[in-house]
Amino acid sequence: AKSGGRARIDVFDANLRRQAMAAMRMEADLRAALEQGQLCLHYQPIVLLETGAIAGFEALMRWNHPDRGLVPPAEFIPLAEETGLIAPMGRWALGEAVRQLALWQARFPRPAPLFMSVNVSTRQFRDDDLVGAVRDLLDAVPIPPSSLKLELTESLLMQDPDECRMLMQSIRDMDVRLSIDDFGTGYSSLAYLHKLPVDVLKIDRSFVRAVSTGEGNAAIVQVIAGLATILRLDAVAEGVETADEAVYLRGLCKYAQGYHFARPAPPDAVERLLAAEDAH
Ligand code: C2E
Ligand code: CA
Ligand code: CA
Ligand code: CA
Repeated sequence: AKSGGRARIDVFDANLRRQAMAAMRMEADLRAALEQGQLCLHYQPIVLLETGAIAGFEALMRWNHPDRGLVPPAEFIPLAEETGLIAPMGRWALGEAVRQLALWQARFPRPAPLFMSVNVSTRQFRDDDLVGAVRDLLDAVPIPPSSLKLELTESLLMQDPDECRMLMQSIRDMDVRLSIDDFGTGYSSLAYLHKLPVDVLKIDRSFVRAVSTGEGNAAIVQVIAGLATILRLDAVAEGVETADEAVYLRGLCKYAQGYHFARPAPPDAVERLLAAEDAH
């Protein structure tokens, strides 16, 4: 029994070691990916629900891996968060997305300029000089600051709310807009939501899906949309996959995003969508 226990521990150690090695290799790979330009952004349209017209985009990171092909963020963002690599990666994404937006605003003018929504991880928000980075970017790239939206998560708002509010206010003072991502999934900060300089609530897909599956959750979309109205925030329904969902959401939310309208796509595919809109 004793030697069996020893053997089990050896196996356990070997597994742990293998996992640690794999994580280290992936961290090195990810660092190289950032330096060698293997990261890229796909853009998913965010549409006006009333008309279906493209109003803006969410920038979504992809890793164009030499062997593995296009790697989705779920497979590398968690490690990037753990190692702190998310800060330089996020800063790159912010710059890339804003430069792309400037090109599209010039080529595809709209009565309300197209907007760009960029994910900012909690770690990036706290560790990095995000305010300085945004200011430098707005100095260098000619977009109306209000056409840039930063997506923050509820968990961020819960940690150190006072410091968070000051950072958010500095961003808002530049006229950049702030969205709460996946709203309703975290420990909701309803108590001080009205004290934070927030502009947009993004309603998580789990609640949007309930609309067509008929689960009790469907009411939650109405509650969040009502909350947005009361607080004078724009609501974005995330993960809209069916026409029925879109119809149900019309009148509740200003914006929607989801496969029903368009999947995230590389810039050239997005340009074809915008050009097709102009042709009509
Ligand atoms: P998220 O911010 O909630 O982004 C929305 C996710 O939902 C995207 O997954 C998008 O492709 C997916 N989606 C959009 N419409 C639909 C739909 O109709 N149905 C379904 N099933 N899914 C839909 P993606 O691109 O795989 O990104 C996953 C997560 O990775 C993001 O969730 C975000 O948390 C994170 N992420 C992506 N890019 C970045 C980034 O540049 N920085 C940071 N910090 N996180 C990022
Ligand atoms: Ca997001
Ligand atoms: Ca989301
Ligand atoms: Ca999400």
